[in-house]
Amino acid sequence: MNLRFADRMNNAQKSFIREILKVVGNPEIISFAGGLPNPISFPIKKIQEATDKILEEDGENILQYSTTEGYLPLREYISERYLKNSGVVVPPDEILITNGSQQGLDLIGKVFLNKGDCMLMEEPGYLGAIQAFSMFEPEFKTVLMNHDGVDTEKLKESIEKYNPKLFYAVPNFQNPSGITYSEENRKQIAGFMKGSDTILIEDDPYGELRFMGSRVPSMKKYMNDNVILLGSFSKIVSPGMRLGWIHAGHEIMEKLIIAKQGADLHSNYFSQRVVYEYLKENNIEVHIEKITDLYKKQRDCMVNSIEKYFPKEVQTTKPEGGMFIWVTLPEKYSSMDLFNIAIKKKVAFVPGDPFYTGKEGVNAFRLNYTNSTEDKIEEGIKILAEGIKELLSE
Ligand code: PMP
Repeated sequence: MNLRFADRMNNAQKSFIREILKVVGNPEIISFAGGLPNPISFPIKKIQEATDKILEEDGENILQYSTTEGYLPLREYISERYLKNSGVVVPPDEILITNGSQQGLDLIGKVFLNKGDCMLMEEPGYLGAIQAFSMFEPEFKTVLMNHDGVDTEKLKESIEKYNPKLFYAVPNFQNPSGITYSEENRKQIAGFMKGSDTILIEDDPYGELRFMGSRVPSMKKYMNDNVILLGSFSKIVSPGMRLGWIHAGHEIMEKLIIAKQGADLHSNYFSQRVVYEYLKENNIEVHIEKITDLYKKQRDCMVNSIEKYFPKEVQTTKPEGGMFIWVTLPEKYSSMDLFNIAIKKKVAFVPGDPFYTGKEGVNAFRLNYTNSTEDKIEEGIKILAEGIKELLSE
């Protein structure tokens, strides 16, 4: 039979990370590849209590269909947290609960992108976003990341030249680089985006995971209404619950709701009720502190091990939060070649290529520190250093 797939599938790629995760499932491998939160971030007992309570009290309703927008008390909770933590006003009726923030990316793509439309991405950028937006066949243009955000000159130039519909950014502890946009960088970006028709998508799954330095305000603070915020419970409660949200103004929200109805009617209502009950009955700040205390230790261990073992010509970022470190090799070397050397030594990471929209043999790669013990981190970095030395001597 002749399978007549849609054109959009012609160039669609499987997620490289999902493929790598299959290989590194082997317990002998020290994996810095995944982006998995540490299971310490799962409040298992409390989730069990919340589940028992609501099933007993309101089982008939929580197992029923619900509204597309999502459970109102949960949206009110998110709205209050925005005000408290970021000082931005996000009314509950401008919040849509999604099936993880990943679904937010898909819905935004559906609502805004025609084939060939221009959109801007960070370079390197979150590969899950590249994958989600690729389904709508846009023309990607990229803006390089630098130590304190994105290259604002290039961004300004690209906005003026291409009038892109969207600019997708992860300003806090970016995936994959771990870089956070400085306040100055944010202000500059907002300054020239304000007068444009380009919509900023501010994706912030890691903002709560700050373990040093001080919080930088959301870009929404400096923008008009051409901003969409994405948030997630994945890194502070549970990724398996698949709960995230989109904040957008009314006009955009109406379209997103239509797209969401077509996709899945509404997000898992049971998860929404369980997570809300958990949040209502517990102090999430205490829980987040437990997570960030652990991540800081793991991050320090990785940064210190890198300083101890990596050759000096290798550069790395030193994140103040989040889950990733970005390593840059001298220019002519490919991180894919390093991956092939390292995997034989039973250490894994994600090579840089999938974080780029059109580049191969990238000389940089991503390390995750949140899912390994300090012993394994030091051991793995030491082995990786040997791999790097082998590569550099080739
Ligand atoms: N955005 C970024 C930048 C991410 O790193 C991730 C998860 N790795 C997501 C969105 C998706 O998160 P979720 O769907 O679990 O909320």
